[in-house]
Amino acid sequence: MIREMVRDFVKEEVEPQALEYDRDEKFNLELFRKLGDYGLLGITVSEDFGGANMDATAVAIVNEELSYSDPGFCLAYLAHSQLTVNNLAYNGSEEQKLRYLPGLCSGELVGCMAMSEPDYGTDVLGMATTATLQEDGNWCINGRKMWITNGVIDEDGTPADIVWLYARTGTTERGRPELSTFIIEKGMPGYKSGQKIIDKLGMRASNTAELVFEDCIVPAANLVGEPGSSIHHMMRNLEIERVALAAQAIGISRRCLADMSRYAGEREAFGKPIQQFGQMQRHIGESWAEYRAMRAYVYETCRVMDLETGGQRLDSDGVKLFATTAAKNIADRAIQVMGGYGYVGEYVVERLWRDAKLLEIGGGTLESHQKNITRDLAKNPDPIED
Ligand SMILES: Cc1cc2nc3c(=O)[nH]c(=O)nc-3n(C[C@H](O)[C@H](O)[C@H](O)COP(=O)(O)OP(=O)(O)OC[C@H]3O[C@@H](n4cnc5c(N)ncnc54)[C@H](O)[C@@H]3O)c2cc1C
Repeated sequence: MIREMVRDFVKEEVEPQALEYDRDEKFNLELFRKLGDYGLLGITVSEDFGGANMDATAVAIVNEELSYSDPGFCLAYLAHSQLTVNNLAYNGSEEQKLRYLPGLCSGELVGCMAMSEPDYGTDVLGMATTATLQEDGNWCINGRKMWITNGVIDEDGTPADIVWLYARTGTTERGRPELSTFIIEKGMPGYKSGQKIIDKLGMRASNTAELVFEDCIVPAANLVGEPGSSIHHMMRNLEIERVALAAQAIGISRRCLADMSRYAGEREAFGKPIQQFGQMQRHIGESWAEYRAMRAYVYETCRVMDLETGGQRLDSDGVKLFATTAAKNIADRAIQVMGGYGYVGEYVVERLWRDAKLLEIGGGTLESHQKNITRDLAKNPDPIED
């Protein structure tokens, strides 16, 4: 039912605007808020807080369907619903959930998650943003966050309403960074947006921005959990993020396959449809097999995924590692099959190729997935023989 509902919505409302918003590098805030009317913005949130109370499979379906037409718009959805809202729903206090989730689920508030920094991406634990406890019990935050999807929500540079922010609050006895999470609200003194990052290769329908925290004063009530307790929930939320990004790859792949397959049947060269040429058959045949393989792997991972407990890092990294590169390759083949037409915006696949590239970087680079998988298997090789 959810697939049907989102598919109809995408056909009627997402597809018609996708080309324009990519070209203009604009985020469609009005359309985004409509996702709230459909219950999609709080898809994994309990109904008590205005959510739809669904699971990882539903998350994958929504991300797949939105990405069939507009992966950039979908990335803004993902940053809000999976990176911010899901995180809050599973880790926030009852008071924090009551305060923020209804607005985030309806679309009245737009959220973002700020982990990366100008000098720290993959090496996330090295982050330089600090939060210092003040004598009056408030926290004072200083630092800059970089590459934040939904960091600004419009062309005037209005910052996100809610930031799920990671900052360093100390160092453990073993010399490891102690990370804590804070909920920052628009209007808090010292929180502002920096530059909107323009001229991105892809995902241009989502806004990416720098966020600046200069002596930003945050009340104790906006600390999530205990100080220093964030690494665990940060890692757990990365699992659903990676699965959602892999689901984006499925949507991109399905669209590319549909378009290249149809085109290869219609386009003639040397007096016959190009689908009769072996080299075109290789592009379509290999794309089909890779699409089916990623689909099975992503939805199987969702089937066993428990958003409460986590523990699926091996496969959340695995699906993202496999599906994202496969999607990029499938989009590349779609352009090749469509020749010069595939190279222009109106035929969509060039945009999907540009968007697919981000999936190899955001939410963890390919290399970080290779590192995690190798580490996890070295620690526990049982999944290999299961
Ligand atoms: C469009 C877009 C949207 C984004 N949205 C968000 C967001 O909403 N929130 C957020 O917090 N971040 C966001 N990011 C940031 C993204 O998560 C980072 O770009 C990513 O984690 C990589 O970090 P980096 O860019 O600093 O690259 P680096 O970490 O500096 O990596 C550079 C290269 O070095 C490699 N490398 C680094 N360490 C190792 C290692 N140990 N072994 C092997 N190779 C290594 C990397 O794989 C990569 O190839 C976004 C990025 C983009 C481009």
